[in-house]
Amino acid sequence: MIFSKPLLDRCISCGYCLPACPTYAMTGEEASSPRGRISLMRALETGQLPEDDETLAEQASFCLGCRACEPVCPAGVEYGNLLEQWRDHQWRGRRRPLRARLLMAAVERPWLLRVPGLVRRHARTAASASGPSLMLGCAERALFPRVSRAARKLVPGLAAPSRQGCCGALHAHNGDSAAGRRMAKELGEVLPGTIVTTSGGCAAHLAAHLGRPRVRELSEFLVETDVLPSGPLLVDGRPARVALQDSCHLRNGLGVWRQPRELIRAVAEYVELPSAATCCGAAGTYSILRPLESAKILAVKIDEIEAAGVDYVVAVNPGCLRQLRSGLRKRGSAVRAVHLAELLELAAKQARRSC
Ligand code: SF4
Ligand code: SF4
Repeated sequence: MIFSKPLLDRCISCGYCLPACPTYAMTGEEASSPRGRISLMRALETGQLPEDDETLAEQASFCLGCRACEPVCPAGVEYGNLLEQWRDHQWRGRRRPLRARLLMAAVERPWLLRVPGLVRRHARTAASASGPSLMLGCAERALFPRVSRAARKLVPGLAAPSRQGCCGALHAHNGDSAAGRRMAKELGEVLPGTIVTTSGGCAAHLAAHLGRPRVRELSEFLVETDVLPSGPLLVDGRPARVALQDSCHLRNGLGVWRQPRELIRAVAEYVELPSAATCCGAAGTYSILRPLESAKILAVKIDEIEAAGVDYVVAVNPGCLRQLRSGLRKRGSAVRAVHLAELLELAAKQARRSC
């Protein structure tokens, strides 16, 4: 058995998911839609298609794993789980793309994750026995150390011990669910209370393995604990115009999308992008494994951001932040991509200065 039968049987082939799927929008081909991919999974399960079938390999890789097909599905198909099971089989051993293997090997070594902290100052405190702790993330602590520092300024009570590993989402999404589960459990032991994360993708993965009550993405934590952001954030003496790019797994997996908007509205003029809820093409390792398709998706997003006349575009996931910054930089855009924690801290800093 490759797939869990009850999960695979749940799809009723109604097709309601097709309009929500970005890869179906790109090709118009059934095989690139959620329903088409589930048919491929069934053909693989029953042996109708051989394991080395080219369409199977192509579609397992072409799918963004954005889970936009889940909230619109009347049958409650857990597509994200099915994709993990599919890639566990499809990307076993050396069939897993080399770049994914290298990244996975790097984040499996907690000592290696601590190295960036020696040069780039991410937040760092002693561990907490039972209070909320900030997850530092593997990519985020290396690429965007300012994000964890901003999060701690917003919530000074958050512990941020540097002896914490990767949550395992990278493994789960790239064909090694067992390691993904194990790493989530290990992180849960190192951070024993509520885990607060600034990464929507990690939040969804951790919630699946540690239980939803243990895990809070930063925006929901701030809203639930009534941390009111200070502001307003001004640009040239007027309220900043700010757009948001949703995190796919945060929105589609955990249903969190109101909270970041609420927080932005508290400090700035919020501008909804037409495709805010649609994947930006970062999709974990997708921008590395499928750069052409990722760039196509991103180009549409950057057009929208430019047309919206905003000062900032906010991300709630490090992969999206990297993707948006890279797209805006290549376009020579004046719009700044920031993490929500950075935006709120920027607003608070302005408020402190004006006092
Ligand atoms: S995944 Fe859901 S929405 Fe899509 S065809 Fe199957 S049952 Fe319908
Ligand atoms: S995860 Fe995203 S890209 Fe993949 S089938 Fe679902 S909607 Fe389409």
